Amino acid sequence: MTTNTAPIAPAKNTTRKHSSKIPVQGGGQFLVEDAPTTEIFTAEDWDEEQLMLAQTVEDFFIQEVHSIGIEKAAQMEASKDLPLILEVFHRAAELGLCGTAIEERFGGMDLDFNTGLRIGESLALGFSFATTIGAQTSIGSLPIVYYGTEEQKAKYLPGIASGEIKASYCLTEPSAGSDANSGKTKATLSTDGNHYLINGQKMWITNGGFADLFIVFAKIEDDERLSAFLVEKVFGGITIGKEEKKLGIKASSTTQVFFENCPVPLDNLLGTRGGGFKIALNILNTGRIKLCASSIGGCKFAVGKGIEYAKQRIQFDKPISDFGAIKHKIGEIIMQTHVTESALYRIGKNIDIKQGEFENQGISKSEAKLKAIREYAIECAILKVVGSEVLDYAIDEVLQIHGGMGYAVETGIEMGYRDARITRIYEGTNEINRMLSVAELTKRALKTKEVDLMGAGKKIPMYLLGQMLPFRSTDEQKIIANFKKVFLLISGAAGKKLGKKMVDEQEIVMNLSDILATSFIAESAYLRAKKVAKQTGIDKTNANIQWKIVQLYLYESLEKVRKFGKDAINSYADGIEKKMMLYALNLLLPKYDINPKEWRRAIADYGIEKNQYPF
Ligand SMILES: Cc1cc2nc3c(=O)[nH]c(=O)nc-3n(C[C@H](O)[C@H](O)[C@H](O)COP(=O)(O)OP(=O)(O)OC[C@H]3O[C@@H](n4cnc5c(N)ncnc54)[C@H](O)[C@@H]3O)c2cc1C
Repeated sequence: MTTNTAPIAPAKNTTRKHSSKIPVQGGGQFLVEDAPTTEIFTAEDWDEEQLMLAQTVEDFFIQEVHSIGIEKAAQMEASKDLPLILEVFHRAAELGLCGTAIEERFGGMDLDFNTGLRIGESLALGFSFATTIGAQTSIGSLPIVYYGTEEQKAKYLPGIASGEIKASYCLTEPSAGSDANSGKTKATLSTDGNHYLINGQKMWITNGGFADLFIVFAKIEDDERLSAFLVEKVFGGITIGKEEKKLGIKASSTTQVFFENCPVPLDNLLGTRGGGFKIALNILNTGRIKLCASSIGGCKFAVGKGIEYAKQRIQFDKPISDFGAIKHKIGEIIMQTHVTESALYRIGKNIDIKQGEFENQGISKSEAKLKAIREYAIECAILKVVGSEVLDYAIDEVLQIHGGMGYAVETGIEMGYRDARITRIYEGTNEINRMLSVAELTKRALKTKEVDLMGAGKKIPMYLLGQMLPFRSTDEQKIIANFKKVFLLISGAAGKKLGKKMVDEQEIVMNLSDILATSFIAESAYLRAKKVAKQTGIDKTNANIQWKIVQLYLYESLEKVRKFGKDAINSYADGIEKKMMLYALNLLLPKYDINPKEWRRAIADYGIEKNQYPF
């Protein structure tokens, strides 16, 4: 089979200018500020060129991976067929997919961040092959894009963009997973002082089986902090372990990599000595939001499959899509996908705008991009957690819609089910990312003073008095504002009582993180629906369904936030404080009733009518 792999050639404006006189809302600010006055970017704003790029990528995967049902994807995973994976890899590279974030002068497309995310969404159609390409374009190349010297960029980026150099990222070790800085891999200076000698062992390395380039994190001599190195396989002293036998993502190579006196030229130190951990963390920020994009792509694809199957599967003389229990699943998946997507591209665009603001201050392009991504570290962590959990939920329910056929290899759903599970583990586990979102917010409140949590917290008692009035309004905007106040109220009170011990009370931190995430996702979905309603009129079906989505999400979230809040309060407070806190929690979370059955049915019917994820 042949595929037309003429490179996708975006017109010059894919490096879009993002100028606005009003500074974009900074990272974490959503919690302490009212909704931004400027409209957020929504998926309705993609222009023709961006949609065409995404379509080209989807067409490629449909032809390459789905061409014979899901057989090729299944063949890739069943046979551990690295040559087959590489064959598709090279065709993807011919199409330009390996160079989406690489500057044009080095053979890449240099897409703006948000367009890159949209392409990441389309990658999901490649099943677990997406992991192979993802490692090449994200963790395997971005450290060089952002931190490389001109010489390092010129040496490696053209080969990475063309697919000639296959790249990997080597951070994890057998004894250093979540605690990545505790790695034992060492770099020592050779006796002639001409190069470093790397010794150690890395684990779970994506693309390890065929990588030519390893971005290796190791400590130089007795340093406390990691440094990063660009290590070519041809340097010698590298042994690749056997392919790991995994639950899923089998169309990707995962191996251990052993380094024994591996000689690395001094010029191949990436960034500064001891600066490797910072590189690792910043690259993971990018990886996290990208993982959300591919998860959203997976959800859309899965629900499309679920709808297709439900419409043609007849039981009790009816298509199963007519049954309320099935509509519930379809409606719920569409709703969860839509709200998460609203938050995803809101932040993707903010990163582009922030980058522009930094560039206007005279900061170089690559540093400005890094700073912009770093700015939204809290949101990136939230998006990783929410995106991966929505994907797991979606594929599990789509498998259920397929009944026994979902359990069979031939539909490909069981493969998607297995593939999805990894998303909660890599790019920082969801536990680590939950804690990180709260820790980063606390740091910005207490240390760098970027987010005025204290100021916002001080206003809560007065606000609560207002909530005691009868006939208080319970519109959507107010509910979202109150979710944020629940976070401020509990984090302030628990923080005061527990002080530094709070970090050890992880259960409470996780509760807070979930309230934080819910506030952010709810606000994003609300702002999107409001914008679409303004543009098209609320009575138009699309806008109408988007409002229903927001209302359904709020209806469900209200009880979840109440539960998270109650759990947190009951876990740290007692006596009169506990009583008062629980009273305040209920004041902030008033009654909000819709007919959830009808709302889910309306959302599901819209998808069923369109025969796919409908937006
Ligand atoms: C298929 C696959 C591909 C991968 N690809 C790469 C790659 O290309 N490059 C790379 O460097 N790494 C890669 N990884 C590694 C991945 O990033 C790690 O598996 C992940 O960071 C978790 O580390 P761990 O497996 O050691 O789990 P651990 O850190 O041992 O965690 C085990 C459990 O304990 C929890 N936990 C750990 N610490 C804490 C804490 N402080 N508080 C609360 N809970 C905690 C975790 O959340 C988790 O639930 C890959 C992993 C897999 C499975």
